[in-house]
Amino acid sequence: MHCPACGQGMRVEKVSVITVDVCTEGCGGLWFDRLELRRLDELHEGDAAGLLSFGQGKSQHRETDRRNCPRCTPSYPLIKRLFHPTVRVEVEECPGCAGHFLDPGELGEIRKSNQPEAEREQAARKIYREMVGAQLESMRSRSEAEREEATMLSSLFRSLLPRRWWN
Ligand SMILES: [Zn+2]
Ligand SMILES: [Zn+2]
Repeated sequence: MHCPACGQGMRVEKVSVITVDVCTEGCGGLWFDRLELRRLDELHEGDAAGLLSFGQGKSQHRETDRRNCPRCTPSYPLIKRLFHPTVRVEVEECPGCAGHFLDPGELGEIRKSNQPEAEREQAARKIYREMVGAQLESMRSRSEAEREEATMLSSLFRSLLPRRWWN
């Protein structure tokens, strides 16, 4: 598989239960297949650190870049989305397969911005609850696929945010 950002071949790496494609020869970007993202939930703290050791390269990103899903045929353009209202990190998602591309350093930024002082943490926790709760609620009436995506997103948040935020 080729990196959607720089076109280099990506290497499959296994971190505990997760398989992730890493752009080791090029930009250092990370690709998570949909099912792999869901399994992030099973990662322990130490394993998460292992994941963070990947993707330390320099981002090749330019605003004008149009990236396509490296998995889908025919390919879909990846869509940028904010990881979380309080985490100003954009990740890219494929509307076809729901795989996610993270530029180098983005996983680390997501982690870092989630070790805030007490009051910021409080606000973030509230938003997290409202957002994930509302999202799941609004998807209850939609298709199975969309509901699955909502579940996946909440798993992703849970795995990257501190455990004490969950409830
Ligand atoms: Zn790359
Ligand atoms: Zn795709």
